[in-house]
Amino acid sequence: MPPRMPRFFVEGAHAPGDHLILEGGDARKLVVVLRAALGDPVEIVDSHGVAFVAKLRSAGPRVSVEVVARIAGEPAGDHPPQIIVAQAVPKARKMDFVVEKLTELGVTRIIPFLSERSVARAGGTEKPARWRRLAVAAAAQCGRLDLPLVDEVMTFEAMLVELSRVDVALLAWELAAPVPLRDVLPGLVGAARSILVAIGPEGGFSYDEVERAGVAGAHAVSLGRRILRTETAPVALMSVLAYLVG
Ligand code: SAH
Repeated sequence: MPPRMPRFFVEGAHAPGDHLILEGGDARKLVVVLRAALGDPVEIVDSHGVAFVAKLRSAGPRVSVEVVARIAGEPAGDHPPQIIVAQAVPKARKMDFVVEKLTELGVTRIIPFLSERSVARAGGTEKPARWRRLAVAAAAQCGRLDLPLVDEVMTFEAMLVELSRVDVALLAWELAAPVPLRDVLPGLVGAARSILVAIGPEGGFSYDEVERAGVAGAHAVSLGRRILRTETAPVALMSVLAYLVG
């Protein structure tokens, strides 16, 4: 499968469990061009702009997919704000833990990135695919109907572009002024519709990165005097945000 799930737009309103037939160009693209195999995931967007993960169930003569789960979209009305976690990819399989826990805690999107002091290296597309599978399993396990989007691994610079797009961006930095979160966060996240939290790698963010994130609009925050592991920090910060924004 390609790095990103292919996306198809379909008529009508849909829900998990629905079976849909893909016609013409969509069917050809999926089966002939992308050579999707049965069970491969695709993204389906219905007439209401609601996105779903669906799986290929039949490749011919009719190409059909089964809608599996909703993908979180833009919040509307009184929905809680979107919370995006940008996580510097940790060593070994620690990202598995991060994806599972953040899915349970209701994060809308997870952006894996590599930064100056990252030990991990970009390793093709198999890891994001694995993380997406883990997110599906974690969502099913905790009764969550939507799925967090899990991006392809991106560079620190690309992550900064995402960071500059949200209402409030926080960069967890162990050297930030040790002001308690209960004093900083309420004023910052109060009316935000989208919040991005950036967590550094095992080696931490470099001064240069902290400065560039600041220019892009991030507020550096301390999570206390103890140094948390890179996989603990997002869980701690996400719990506090969930408490604050519901
Ligand atoms: N190597 C650094 C620590 C990195 S901890 C050192 O030893 O000094 C990994 C990441 O977790 C950091 O980049 C930061 O984003 C987050 N983090 C850990 N503890 C933190 C704290 N007390 N305050 C803010 N962020 C923290």
